[in-house]
Amino acid sequence: MVRKPSESSTRRQFLRQAALGGALLCTWNMAAAAQLRALRVGRYHQGVRLVFDLDRRLTAVPVIRSVGEVLHIELPGIEHGLNRPVVPALGPLQGGAEMNESAAGLVLRLPLRESVRWRSFSLGPGGGASHRLVLDLMPVAGTVVESSRSHAVAGAGRSIVVCLDPGHGGHDPGAIGAKGTREKDVVLDVGLSLAQLIRSTPGMRLVMSRNTDRYVPLMDRMHLGLEEHADLFVSIHADAFPERAVCGSTVWALSATGASNAAARWLAKTQNAADPLLGDVQSGVHDPMLNEVLINMTQTAAMNSAAAAADVMIRGLAGVEDLHNAAVQHANFVVLRAPDVPSMLVETAFISNPEEEQRLRDPDFRQVLARTMHDAVVAHFVKAPPAGSAWSATRHVLSKGENLAGVARRYGLSVEALRLANNLPRGEGQPGEHLRVPIMGV
Ligand SMILES: [Zn+2]
Repeated sequence: MVRKPSESSTRRQFLRQAALGGALLCTWNMAAAAQLRALRVGRYHQGVRLVFDLDRRLTAVPVIRSVGEVLHIELPGIEHGLNRPVVPALGPLQGGAEMNESAAGLVLRLPLRESVRWRSFSLGPGGGASHRLVLDLMPVAGTVVESSRSHAVAGAGRSIVVCLDPGHGGHDPGAIGAKGTREKDVVLDVGLSLAQLIRSTPGMRLVMSRNTDRYVPLMDRMHLGLEEHADLFVSIHADAFPERAVCGSTVWALSATGASNAAARWLAKTQNAADPLLGDVQSGVHDPMLNEVLINMTQTAAMNSAAAAADVMIRGLAGVEDLHNAAVQHANFVVLRAPDVPSMLVETAFISNPEEEQRLRDPDFRQVLARTMHDAVVAHFVKAPPAGSAWSATRHVLSKGENLAGVARRYGLSVEALRLANNLPRGEGQPGEHLRVPIMGV
């Protein structure tokens, strides 16, 4: 028998919920009354920077989306304090803006001349300015060097996005070996070979920060991973040390302690950089609301994933190279700090070591490096396929008399992939055991 709640108890519940909801609503409204005092627009790198001057701290995250050639900016909890915002035709902006007030807050519509990517952050008072919300709009064509679609994959699920980042480039040669070998050249070559392998892996999509000899700022590399929703970001470098004997590979991942500080330091260093629009922000205090909350929410998961991937990578490299550090190292490199993007930095070898410089000069060795890194990337995603991806695992219950080879054959996998996905280095599974079957899009 299904017992229905009595009418009075349902009503009590309803009233309690209504009261609670009302209370929340009140708090929200009280906290939400920030006023827009001014909107300033200026050039920022290849794009534009919009600074919203507010009379108090922003308490909600802005919602930004582009609809056709118009950028919609919803600013919850901000009230109209301006008659009409003046938005000039500048960079990707067509000029002009439409501003409306809704129950949720202010909605700004900016007509665009071209597609943009964006980032926003908030700043506390400083240098004579009040609280600010800063919105940077960058033309998409400016930084994304390559973004190739992967093969169509049998079965549902999105492609796994791998972002490759060959270090340095252009005017920045990176480390230079005794024979004149430049880090930027060898890491680009390794990166291009690895890119080719990723491209030919079903169910993977490649994004690359550079595929030619050109300089890409660190922040742009990091943002690329973010914007492309990379499942893994791999920065490729070659190490250098004054002591020539030092050799071997190192794999770096962002550390947990580094991450929280990184958020603050990253913002302090880069977004506080001399910028006339922001005024003197050296003394300004960052509003932690938008920045650190968002970063901390997502970064733990990303770091765990990065650590796992880096671990697979270092084991792979151990097969071809001496290891400078046998364990994954943790640090705060800018390129590793994208929230929500599992990121690692691979120092392939020491270009400052004469023997290793010689090896790095050898195209065959660079091929081996690329193949090893590709194997590690594949092994990582077989073990831990991102949710909803084309490689997401399915389940298979092992029946009596069935062996791993039979299951692997049935799903078109190698036994090794099946063993890897199930942490079964040897032996057979037990009847009734649930096996993870990675779907690798083949
Ligand atoms: Zn480097």
